[in-house]
Amino acid sequence: MTSPTKGPGAVQPKSAKEARRLERLKHGSRAVRDVAPARPPGSPGRFGQMTKSQPRRPPPVLGSVGESGATSGEPTVVVSRRAVERLDQGHVWIYRSDVAAPAALSGGEVVRLADERGWFVGKAFYGAQSQIAVRLLTREDEPVDDDFFARRLSQAKALRDATAPDAERRRAGRLVHGEADLIPGLIVDRYADCLSIQTLIEATDARRELLADILMTLVQPRAIVERNDLRVRAHEGLPQRKGMLRGDPPGPVEFLEGEVRLVADLLEGQKTGAFLDQAENRVEAGHYARGRALDCFTYGGAFALQLARRADTVTAVDISEQAAAQGREAAARNGAGNVEFKVANAFDLLRDESDKGERYDTIVLDPPAFAKSKSSLDAALRGYKEINLRAFHLLTRGGVLITCSCSFHIDDAQFERTVLAAAGDAKRSVQVIERRGAGRDHPTLLGVPETRYLKCLILRVL
Ligand code: SAH
Repeated sequence: MTSPTKGPGAVQPKSAKEARRLERLKHGSRAVRDVAPARPPGSPGRFGQMTKSQPRRPPPVLGSVGESGATSGEPTVVVSRRAVERLDQGHVWIYRSDVAAPAALSGGEVVRLADERGWFVGKAFYGAQSQIAVRLLTREDEPVDDDFFARRLSQAKALRDATAPDAERRRAGRLVHGEADLIPGLIVDRYADCLSIQTLIEATDARRELLADILMTLVQPRAIVERNDLRVRAHEGLPQRKGMLRGDPPGPVEFLEGEVRLVADLLEGQKTGAFLDQAENRVEAGHYARGRALDCFTYGGAFALQLARRADTVTAVDISEQAAAQGREAAARNGAGNVEFKVANAFDLLRDESDKGERYDTIVLDPPAFAKSKSSLDAALRGYKEINLRAFHLLTRGGVLITCSCSFHIDDAQFERTVLAAAGDAKRSVQVIERRGAGRDHPTLLGVPETRYLKCLILRVL
């Protein structure tokens, strides 16, 4: 079984493209549950066309600007015209080839950004190790001090309080989603009254005590667990670490998803195993469930248990024995006697069931990312088409399909075209009931495509 926190380990990014891929890894993205080997340097990347059409510019130089531009205590980093354009388009990452930084910077500092003429552009975290040298914090000329971070964190919390109020603190959700909350390199998940945090870059790692202090004041958790045991941190020159930042080891933490009781072991378990980005979609899927249901790629059964509340029976399928065992435990905890966990390859099971002429009223498809890189796109699209085609064969008239893709390389339109092609081959007419993405606690930042990856269609066969 793969996990969203698994990365290619100590491999150093060889290109900006590779660095972006590693960045996505750090965000615990489901899009990278499976990780492909790095593409050889020089091969076309995601932004290949964009960069190819632009003439190569020499990197910016510090010149006199670097020495004189600052009006605050922060060192100045000069960014190229291309970088300024990128920031203007909403992005927050600048690559090393587009910056000139004073040699004295050791990494982790807050720096002042200036364009090549010395004009203020913003303030940012500076990284000395990663190919992403600069991560924007603010476009305003404001102090970046303890109050700044307290404001950012309380802003992040305000969104969650508004969209998913949980006064009794019995639920789980992402409190801080890194770049998308304009706190690059920081992930904070809340499970009931406990927090789990990841500081993924030099700047947030260096400030983790400050961030923990702010979170204690803001959220008053029973415990804060640090899950910095991600191999991908090696790219930032950061060590593997896990343990308590505040409070005592919390043990397994029970939380509610909708009405379903789930458990997370924040310290020992696979922290990201809850795939919180799908939480809202799982609860919503439960509303459509009826009759005979099938949950493919079930992992710990989180979709299956939502379906079980309304369906007569649920078959939950995963290729991993460990996942199925976890699912059975979860079913027992919820007294869900109508769920059967099967260890099988979902591709085979879908084919066998359809060959046998079986019928289902509700089907969930939530596979790992099939498109791990652009080069595997065709194979990935064939994979998505195959499972959706089988599902359309299996669905009764009026049956509902909840079909998902967390492949960053496949966008909404492409996914929808693939699902349509599958429906066409199965000769089924299909309604779109809902077009969904990650939950509201995983916002995307406009202009930063890397923060948008999850697609979830709720469809009905007519
Ligand atoms: N639906 C889950 C998350 C799924 S993660 C949730 O909401 O929590 C993807 C799962 O697919 C993993 O558990 C992995 O073990 C499983 N998997 C990967 N390839 C598979 C295959 N060919 N057949 C069945 N399961 C597979």
